[in-house]
Amino acid sequence: MQRFDGKTVIVTGGGGGIGGATCRRLASEGAKVAVFDMNLDAAEKVAADIRGNGGQAAAFACDITDRAQVDAAVAAAQTQLGPIAVLVNNAGWDVFKPFLKTVPAEWEKLIAINLTGALHMLHAVLPGMVERKYGRIVNVASDAARGGSSGEAVYSACKGGLVALSKTLAREHARQSITVNVVCPGPTDTALLAGVAEGARDPAKLIEAFKSAIPLGRLGQGDDLASAIAFFGSDDAGFVTGQVLSVSGG
Ligand code: NAD
Repeated sequence: MQRFDGKTVIVTGGGGGIGGATCRRLASEGAKVAVFDMNLDAAEKVAADIRGNGGQAAAFACDITDRAQVDAAVAAAQTQLGPIAVLVNNAGWDVFKPFLKTVPAEWEKLIAINLTGALHMLHAVLPGMVERKYGRIVNVASDAARGGSSGEAVYSACKGGLVALSKTLAREHARQSITVNVVCPGPTDTALLAGVAEGARDPAKLIEAFKSAIPLGRLGQGDDLASAIAFFGSDDAGFVTGQVLSVSGG
């Protein structure tokens, strides 16, 4: 018996670095994985890898900023894979520049993806969890939400909002056996980090600076985050809710 046998999970941004590693980890522990991503090709690739390794997964095109797409993809995932037991709100986007150089269109995009997108997913998935009196929600924020991060003002604000939202939902839904926890990555070796570095004058130098500030001396890898997400998503963490865990090398 594995931790996720018979459980259906949704991972948003499942075609990306941390999301892909999480989908693979959960599938390897028995989950039926709905890989949600606005990049359907990336989601299909992760789902195909999982099926190729004997697991169960299907890809769903879903831009989480669009409520109609979220509702349609959640309904399709439930029809194909069964009622959702675990939701991992992982999709995210960042832009690296000083606050005074950012423009409102960038804030709106950051807020739409990093905060409103999670709200859409939660509003679509939570009612079923409430009805079934069971759910595991794992929200992927960032260490930027905890300590601030120069060049990531609005992103930090969104992720801080996600932390506060998680703590509140943990209280509101505890009596329905729904847990809500947060994983905060530090700099992690994915396309998002490469994109963030591109915003700097010297991208390689910025990555090096991130790395040298990490006590454990290396960037995070998708699997580092997948382990923590799997813990919060499993019944090993059944008595843990409203918590925030940094997975950032110290
Ligand atoms: P990534 O770029 O590899 O993956 C992000 C995925 O999200 C991509 O597949 C992308 O297509 C998808 N996505 C973006 N906007 C979307 C939308 N509107 N609808 C649906 N899917 C969308 O990045 P990652 O590093 O794996 O990021 C995963 C999470 O970790 C994000 O929430 C990010 O903010 C957070 N995070 C990452 C780092 C890091 O250093 N990589 C640090 C802190 C937090």
